Amino acid sequence: MKKIAILGSTGSIGTQTLEVVKANPGRFEVTALSAGHNIGLLEQQIRAFRPRIAAVWEEADARRLAEAVRDVPVEICWGMDGLNAVASEESSQVLVTAIVGMIGIVPTITAIRAGKDIALANKETLVTAGHIIMKLAAEKGVRILPIDSEHSAIFQSMNGEDRGAVSRILLTASGGPFRGKTFEELKKVRVEDALRHPNWNMGRKITIDSASMVNKGLEVIEAKWLFGVTLDQIQVVIQPQSIIHSMVEYADGAVIAQLGTPDMKLPIQYALTWPERLPLAGPRLDFAALASITFEAPKPETFLGLSYAMEAGRAGGSLPTVFNAANERAVALFLDKKIGFTDIYRIIRTCMDRHSLIADPTVEEILETEKEVYRWIDEMQH
Ligand code: NDP
Repeated sequence: MKKIAILGSTGSIGTQTLEVVKANPGRFEVTALSAGHNIGLLEQQIRAFRPRIAAVWEEADARRLAEAVRDVPVEICWGMDGLNAVASEESSQVLVTAIVGMIGIVPTITAIRAGKDIALANKETLVTAGHIIMKLAAEKGVRILPIDSEHSAIFQSMNGEDRGAVSRILLTASGGPFRGKTFEELKKVRVEDALRHPNWNMGRKITIDSASMVNKGLEVIEAKWLFGVTLDQIQVVIQPQSIIHSMVEYADGAVIAQLGTPDMKLPIQYALTWPERLPLAGPRLDFAALASITFEAPKPETFLGLSYAMEAGRAGGSLPTVFNAANERAVALFLDKKIGFTDIYRIIRTCMDRHSLIADPTVEEILETEKEVYRWIDEMQH
């Protein structure tokens, strides 16, 4: 039985992780769960999966939850201490980081220090603190197993291969709901349009990031850390049907790809069972019905999220944190209908220009940079 803890169990990745657990009885044990504010769903999860620890963000929610589950033997905690308790729960072997945002950095470090393998969905951790996380994981002999579908595809395409012979990573992108639009057209799109992803059903923030191509930018930076390649070795390819999840090109010109239907349960399950493959129910690819898989070059001059991410990734240090934090706050403003879609780009640009680079930031400096960027954006709104 593999013992797993989950940060962000009430979210899109978190709930699908629990579906994988449920579909494989006797295979996994859930040791700890954490949520933000959705204590109703967390209560149901506690009753169904019986973790030893459960954490929420606010003390008041923790009190209400403790009252609701007083008949169940579970320790309820809250705040960053709660996240750290979930991350380092003694018996767990793997921590699934399905929490959203840079709040995932500290508990991920806690888990690595405690020797837990990481099944990583949270992009922000490697984007902002990749230089710290990868070094620490290597020191502790801890595995970072990707959950993001593209990174899982790359990981699967590298299985049993000579990593030294990798020449390029071909990171695929659907192009999102606004593929083919001009910058002028992007200025007029509404929140409802941006939330309508053509292929994937995901959390709200990542769906907006997919529409702006910020998500692909974050994935490029994440891939750099996960697979130890340079940004110049990563090429983004638009593949609108989301059938090829990504590819790896080798020194001899061979390209190995992973294909499948768009279902996050596959990469989640693979991260939890690697190197084994378990059966997974669901539709299969029907190539005859599919008829064609098409490709396009991305348009970073229109979808500025990609070009700003490449710039931040190349500069390194604290700039990816600025890129990520500015985007996080701008997306929240867009979802609240306080700014337009292309204002997301304007805000990221302004913050990147204003920042003085820290070459090798500590966790404290990363979190301080995040706060500073939030302050700048709050000032811009007044
Ligand atoms: P969701 O918004 O659906 O879920 C986020 C989770 O984090 C929820 O459980 C939420 O709790 C919890 N959370 C948010 N804030 C806090 C907080 N302050 N303290 C504790 N918990 C908190 O996000 P997704 O599942 O879509 O994404 C999670 C991560 O995975 C992101 O980094 C995303 O980029 C990445 N990812 C997602 C993919 C997807 O298909 N969805 C694909 C690849 C990567 P609550 O709801 O209870 O408030």
